[in-house]
Amino acid sequence: MTISNQRNIHPPLFFNNIHLSETDTHKHLGLIFHHSLSWHTHILHLHQKVMTKINRLRSFSNSLPRHSLLTIYKTNILPIFDYGSIIYDNCSDSDKHLLDKAQLSAAKIILGCLKTTSSSDVLLDLNLKTLIHRREISILRYFSKIIFRLVPCPLPLNLFRSFGEFVPYTLRHNLDVQIPLFKKSLAFNFFLRKACSLWNSLPLEIKSSPSHPNFMNRLMSYYHVAKQNTHHLLGVNPRLTSVRCMLRLAHSPLNINKKSYRTCVCGDIETEIHLFFYCNFHVAARAILFNRVYNIVTYNISPEFFV
Ligand SMILES: [Zn+2]
Repeated sequence: MTISNQRNIHPPLFFNNIHLSETDTHKHLGLIFHHSLSWHTHILHLHQKVMTKINRLRSFSNSLPRHSLLTIYKTNILPIFDYGSIIYDNCSDSDKHLLDKAQLSAAKIILGCLKTTSSSDVLLDLNLKTLIHRREISILRYFSKIIFRLVPCPLPLNLFRSFGEFVPYTLRHNLDVQIPLFKKSLAFNFFLRKACSLWNSLPLEIKSSPSHPNFMNRLMSYYHVAKQNTHHLLGVNPRLTSVRCMLRLAHSPLNINKKSYRTCVCGDIETEIHLFFYCNFHVAARAILFNRVYNIVTYNISPEFFV
């Protein structure tokens, strides 16, 4: 593989009198480099790899509890997205969208919700961050290690010194770093350039962290990374858990969620409240439900409680 703007510049190569053919891509440490420096081939390979695992997850979706599916996703699929993400982050928007779609389809399988459910609601319900935020956190984590001299810097450190080193007096932007200038437009989305921009956009209290662990704690609270609380996924019966999820996300097969014909067969608007408390067509099922709930819940439930 030759990386160059010119064509046919390399002389033919022979090994044991066998002509070595030129390739367009080269795989190195799990990352596929293309001679045009595009990440499209790598993203396609990544997508295919991830979708194979997601389809396997789909085959378990009716037999395993929802929280187990989430654990499988976090331990087997998310690390594939994360590996080398700070390097391939400068891929095209369509490539990023392809990966986002893969994560979303996995999230919907885990929840067992309808395909048309809002993507933000699905990720929020699972306490999952978007892949864009995951990559930004990874970039800032690595950049913080560079700033605190915990890892070697791939470029001379004087390329992105903080403004405080140039200016003798205290300014609001003293902790900002100087974004390195590159002659080629190809380097516009280069890791260090993006890392410097992300760093400069952080609030002052995060940039002034005294150590790397302290920086990460403040960064995580800045990105609203709450402790993983997925108790609502607990439940042995996957089907019941997915029905609960559809009702919770207000995106169920009930007519209220349809664009037209939102009424029940009894004539009222078919909302969750109507279905559980008022509809005359479900009296027998309601009696069974209330008897079961009565044995679990100790206080009185009124329909207004759910409004
Ligand atoms: Zn009704």
